[in-house]
Amino acid sequence: MAAIAASTGSSNVILIEKNSSLGKKLLMTGKGRCNLTNDCDLEAFLQRFSKNGQFLRDSFKIMFNSQLVSFFEDRGLKMKVERQKRVFPVTDRSSSVLRILENELKKNKVKIITDTGINSVLVKDGKVSGVLSNIGRSFECDSLILATGGVSYKNTGSDGEGIKVAEALGHKIVQLRAGLVPLIVKQKFIKDLEGLSLKNIRLLFNAGKKKVISDVGEMIFTKNGISGPLVLTLSCSIVDFLKDGYHVNCSVDLKPALSKDQLLKRFFKDVSDHPKKSIKGILKDYLPERLICTFLDLLNIPHEEKISHINRKVREDLLDMFKGFSFDIERGESIDFGMITQGGVSLKDVSPKTMESRIVKGLYFAGEMLDIDADTGGFNLQAAFSTGFLAGLSSIS
Ligand SMILES: Cc1cc2nc3c(=O)[nH]c(=O)nc-3n(C[C@H](O)[C@H](O)[C@H](O)COP(=O)(O)OP(=O)(O)OC[C@H]3O[C@@H](n4cnc5c(N)ncnc54)[C@H](O)[C@@H]3O)c2cc1C
Repeated sequence: MAAIAASTGSSNVILIEKNSSLGKKLLMTGKGRCNLTNDCDLEAFLQRFSKNGQFLRDSFKIMFNSQLVSFFEDRGLKMKVERQKRVFPVTDRSSSVLRILENELKKNKVKIITDTGINSVLVKDGKVSGVLSNIGRSFECDSLILATGGVSYKNTGSDGEGIKVAEALGHKIVQLRAGLVPLIVKQKFIKDLEGLSLKNIRLLFNAGKKKVISDVGEMIFTKNGISGPLVLTLSCSIVDFLKDGYHVNCSVDLKPALSKDQLLKRFFKDVSDHPKKSIKGILKDYLPERLICTFLDLLNIPHEEKISHINRKVREDLLDMFKGFSFDIERGESIDFGMITQGGVSLKDVSPKTMESRIVKGLYFAGEMLDIDADTGGFNLQAAFSTGFLAGLSSIS
């Protein structure tokens, strides 16, 4: 997007990409469907950033969600709004988004050089004068936009090289941390639940005796832990507590809409209506089968035991698990598995009005390499597109 904006006022724009093709990460977004942006209003949008959302006000004045959607719709790719105001292309394919961008680059005669990584910036009298590549090529330029991404999913090309280049020029780098990461669970029984997804559950995380965060949403069990939209969203706070050495526990309320008393009443009525049923048979109306097996194993109850043979105390223990299925968090997945990188080029060194560096004239930054990160829902791509668009326009003015 930065190169597209720059090419509206300059006929000499070069896009240098280290991969053999453009947009490798873009193709992975939204599970291959690309959650392009979010249809919520500006204030709600800014709140979804972990701390630095205010920095984006100027970029969003130039290109916010409606302008981004129009950019694609005007070029023939219609968008649709799904639950939680997430915006996707109607094709359900991120490749359609990439195709529009590539066509625009071609139309605006941007020269694309692939298989070439930038590893240093040439500066003369405090101003950009060119770049050097990893294959020994140099390029002269008056303006340079660095948009090399964060450090997660390194196989997509964003491996932090660009952040090192910025650091070498004197920009402060805010510590890089994983954002939106799956969490690893200590207890081995989690493996038996791999692939099971749960909707409308409440997660509550405690660090020591302190309640950290709690919310309702969707989650999925992985081979060694938990993931899914709700876990990813809450993970940023959890990772910070783990880093500080806290013992973090997660408790899943599988029936957040029912109080424990309501649940007890319903359960005991079912038990008295069907005394001959097995415990597993009764629980089928309440829980997914794989979770029933795990619960029964944890409480050492034979799966086919008749409900009438199970005493009241054990039944209550079972119901406690409905409202608080609990396990310990060992750590967050490594930064490579984070959907985004927290930290990056310090915003103190960048002008929000132009995206220009405050240290090197003619150098601009855009996208995830900046110390900006947001929740899932289309917020990160909008930030990357908007900062790229502003950097592109500023570089030619
Ligand atoms: C699995 C996954 C799914 C996601 N889904 C969504 C989603 O649906 N919606 C959303 O809003 N966000 C999503 N995100 C986050 C979003 O993809 C990123 O925030 C966004 O791609 C950042 O854009 P960027 O242009 O700054 O960096 P990137 O997309 O990482 O692009 C950086 C580019 O720079 C190139 N590069 C790196 N170093 C150099 C160098 N030294 N020289 C030359 N080129 C270099 C890289 O090869 C890469 O092509 C997702 C992330 C992941 C990992």
